[in-house]
Amino acid sequence: MSKDKYFDDQNIRPATQLVQGGRRPEWTGDPRLGGGVVNPPVWRASTILYDNIADMKGRGHATHDQLYYGRRGTPTVWALADALTGMEPGAEGTLLYPSGVAAIAAGLLALLSPGDHLLMVDSAYEPTRSFCNGMLARYGVETTYYDPLVGAGIADLITPATKLIFLESPGSLTFEVQDIPAIVAAARDRGVLTMLDNTWATPLLFPALAQGIDVTMMSLTKYVGGHSDAMMGSLTATRAVWPRLRQATYQLGHAVSPDDCALMLRGLRTLDVRMERHGANGLKVANWLAGRAEVARVLHPALPGDCGHAIWVRDFLGTSGLFGFTLKGADEAARTRFIDALAHFGIGFSWGGYESLVVPSDPAGIRTATAWTDSDPLVRLSIGLEDPADLIADLERGFAAMVG
Ligand SMILES: *Cc1c(COP(=O)(O)O)cnc(C)c1O
Repeated sequence: MSKDKYFDDQNIRPATQLVQGGRRPEWTGDPRLGGGVVNPPVWRASTILYDNIADMKGRGHATHDQLYYGRRGTPTVWALADALTGMEPGAEGTLLYPSGVAAIAAGLLALLSPGDHLLMVDSAYEPTRSFCNGMLARYGVETTYYDPLVGAGIADLITPATKLIFLESPGSLTFEVQDIPAIVAAARDRGVLTMLDNTWATPLLFPALAQGIDVTMMSLTKYVGGHSDAMMGSLTATRAVWPRLRQATYQLGHAVSPDDCALMLRGLRTLDVRMERHGANGLKVANWLAGRAEVARVLHPALPGDCGHAIWVRDFLGTSGLFGFTLKGADEAARTRFIDALAHFGIGFSWGGYESLVVPSDPAGIRTATAWTDSDPLVRLSIGLEDPADLIADLERGFAAMVG
């Protein structure tokens, strides 16, 4: 599939956008100094100083790209938001949050009111569920969890109170691929908004707004940052939804550090090449695992045998490096021996960094709309930028240790 299909001749293509995004002359240079720097400098600020009272009053309604007060951002923050907006054809703007979870919570609070009904995918990231079951429930928003494979059947779950359908595809623990176009069509038909957790794919592999999603969210902590040293989240939205998100975000008081924005911008510049390598390395490892006797199932939508493969081929422009597999007939102790024996995979939450990671995961206790019946223990890998031959040799040592 071609990445060009979302970009007409007027628009620069994604790899170029990643290089140029956010580097506006007014953010990278000062005419009085006679030049500019490549990267938007780090503008640390709480207080902004005005020339005089008229200047202060004149900027009272400043929103995006005029300095007003630190919480409203500085050029470093605007540069990151601008660069993310540029990656998403059809976007009006991007808001930044101190974490991915904060972005999800702010988006849900912005779009839902007491008495509203939310349809939440059953494969969602666990803290997303926790926000729905906790704070949203306390504020009178009812959540119904739905089967990630529901497709057009979502129409049957929409009630007059349904205001939002939340999607995550592929699910970041279990990797089901949702039929996003079918769900979007049903939602639009009934005037329901859609919000997607697009952390796995990023707009490089799934331009969400071009596919009809209203709000797309990323944990920038993962692939955008890419170096496991900063946390942030983003919401990018269409023009219709944007004012509600911006107002709620101001009211909630979210602000992000300009230093962290500079780190995120640095990550963004190399996102295209890193994603390509994460995806290719991941596929090599996944294909090798699929041929091993110790493995029952590889949960990777880019493998032809995967249940989400056909939809993934239809909708996605490539693969990232996060996937899972199950250990055939193994027990908890064997899984632990396997993981503990790995030398090149750090044991840790998060993913999307340059270094490979492994975690055990147990989805059975999390689901409510669907049952996770696979009794073989699940392992999740985030494949980094190491040589995949070294990773494969490491996994082979893990299998040897499992027997022990
Ligand atoms: C990590 C993650 C989040 C939350 O992001 P944080 O930056 O850790 O708060 C949300 N969704 C998915 C799919 C994630 O993996």
